[in-house]
Amino acid sequence: MKYSTILLFGAPGAGKGTQGKVLGVVPNFFHNSCGDVFRSLTVDSELGRIFLDYSARGQLVPDEYTVRLWHESIKKREQAGQFRPERDTLILDGIPRNLAQAKLLEDTLNVKAVFNLLCADRNKLVERLQRRALRENRLDDASLEVIRRRLETYENETRPVLDFYGPKLVIQIDATLTPIQVLHNILEVVARREGQFDPNSWTFSRPS
Ligand code: ADP
Repeated sequence: MKYSTILLFGAPGAGKGTQGKVLGVVPNFFHNSCGDVFRSLTVDSELGRIFLDYSARGQLVPDEYTVRLWHESIKKREQAGQFRPERDTLILDGIPRNLAQAKLLEDTLNVKAVFNLLCADRNKLVERLQRRALRENRLDDASLEVIRRRLETYENETRPVLDFYGPKLVIQIDATLTPIQVLHNILEVVARREGQFDPNSWTFSRPS
């Protein structure tokens, strides 16, 4: 059975993690962030070192590692009974992050909606990331050079994923508003389409 999925999409700093955490506490929703999965690794593991190496340069970790790690992590959550795919909708943030990952995950995810958190103001994104660097002690947020590279990676590699899912699935959300207003706008759509996010409904899946 494919996972019924809502994707949170947007540039670094757009607020995917913030919204994902809140949505993830709603019954029958389960939040999973690919960045958090990577950050849970320790540097004494091979993958932990690979992650540090790429993220400190503002680059994506190679797809093969990423998708394997993500699969293992979500399976563990399933086995632990935290994520129940027959009941829960997955709120996914940070993956797929390029076209190759979207294709690799096609057999796993039944993507029912993509919330695109839009922030055209690059300076605002940079400001948010710099504030986060202080708050969360994140290496990849610390230097302007790395931030710039991550925003470029987003433009070149991640943004094309929106076309893969197509306009029928993508919902544009203004991410320059306050967190509560962004949440309100997301929830408004989710509430309206609630029945369609049920894992047993296939209405909004991408036509194959
Ligand atoms: P942000 O959205 O602010 O960039 P994340 O926590 O989602 O932060 O990601 C941090 C870093 O982790 C990325 O810059 C990248 O190096 C790595 N990463 C996260 N998700 C993926 C992914 N799906 N594919 C490849 N690398 C990833």
